[in-house]
Amino acid sequence: MPTMTFTTLGLIDQLCRTLDELGYQTPTPVQTQAIPAVLAGRDLMAAAQTGTGKTAGFALPLLQRLTMEGPQVGANSVRVLVLTPTRELAEQVHESFCEYGAGLPLRTHVAYGGVSINPQMMKLRKGLDVLVATPGRLLDLYRQNAVKFDQLQTLVLDEADRMLDLGFSQELNAVFAALPKKRQTLLFSATFSDPIRALAAVLLMNPLSIEISPRNTTVKSVKQWVIPVDKKRKPELFCHLLKKRRWGQVLVFVKTRKGVDQLVDLLLSLGIRADAIHGDKPQPARLRALDRFKSGEVNILVATDVAARGLDIDDLPQVVNFDLPIVAEDYIHRIGRTGRAGAKGEAISLVCADEVDLLAAIEMLTKQTLPRIEEPGFEAEHRVPLTNAAGQVQKKPKKPKKSKWTKAA
Ligand code: AMP
Repeated sequence: MPTMTFTTLGLIDQLCRTLDELGYQTPTPVQTQAIPAVLAGRDLMAAAQTGTGKTAGFALPLLQRLTMEGPQVGANSVRVLVLTPTRELAEQVHESFCEYGAGLPLRTHVAYGGVSINPQMMKLRKGLDVLVATPGRLLDLYRQNAVKFDQLQTLVLDEADRMLDLGFSQELNAVFAALPKKRQTLLFSATFSDPIRALAAVLLMNPLSIEISPRNTTVKSVKQWVIPVDKKRKPELFCHLLKKRRWGQVLVFVKTRKGVDQLVDLLLSLGIRADAIHGDKPQPARLRALDRFKSGEVNILVATDVAARGLDIDDLPQVVNFDLPIVAEDYIHRIGRTGRAGAKGEAISLVCADEVDLLAAIEMLTKQTLPRIEEPGFEAEHRVPLTNAAGQVQKKPKKPKKSKWTKAA
């Protein structure tokens, strides 16, 4: 088979030149499949994780269609609408549209909640070729007549599974009801749960199905393991590993916002450059934290799942699950941050006895038993029961244990 290039996929010169400048030499698998289909106007149902190049997979052909086809956009109208679960992902997808669309005569903008709505309304006045938005803010804009969909030709749902997880289904239904029936719809999701399949069944017309990595598996180039540890010793263990393994940039996932702040405070008190990203922080502070991390100004970024969703951080060698995620799918999203584009990565989970059911759920979802490596000096007193890829948790061995109450009594 001849080598696939962006030109052979049917992209116009202007886009190919931009990609050349960005150093994109060959299309990724998701791009090879998605670009011709989207150019041809087909609907798409794509199982592709972050890091596969999916954003360019839809942005490039849509930019081309917008440039080559259709009338100019009218006041308050939108021709391509991209919905994302989080503000960060919205920003990132919008940046990709700007980057890939450099030099094309198109108007793009991004809209999400937590910031003033007025500038977004102003931008919409002249109409937009591409609007990237989170569902809640989009509905606000729609209800205030700031956006209309008479010219809408394509709807993209990015990280659709996450939108449902975050409870956006009502907002989504309200948006769908406002859109023209005749349109192109592209649905991207890291995992395909039954609710996503149900959504696809009503939204998509004869879609092309793309499945990039096998369903619900984690990226192979990421080395993953578990360190069993007592809950109260996790902070200490984390600092120990940081020093011992000489980690450079680390993205750390913590279950709660409070936990995020506590860990960051601890690290700062030890003189380690760290920053936090979670839902309580105002949007500018979150973006600033991300920028500081990306530029290397801080080494440790501590995040909750919601806030970290979709962060585009390239070549991240290290992800640490300080706490396991409550939703097993999030494990896949988390470690999707590392080992991108074939780069090697490590994902380490600090697991305490309380988290054994979460661990079993992750192993079942990813069809693997994660290796356990104890860290000398941090062996768990509260044993973490053995788990396996069938989702089973081995019952505690019945050894006659001395009751800790006998001594005290
Ligand atoms: P995504 O999966 O859309 O989040 O993209 C992951 C990363 O891969 C982004 O940083 C893109 O800039 C980069 N990327 C996407 N397509 C290509 C390509 N064909 N060649 C090289 N890098 C790419």
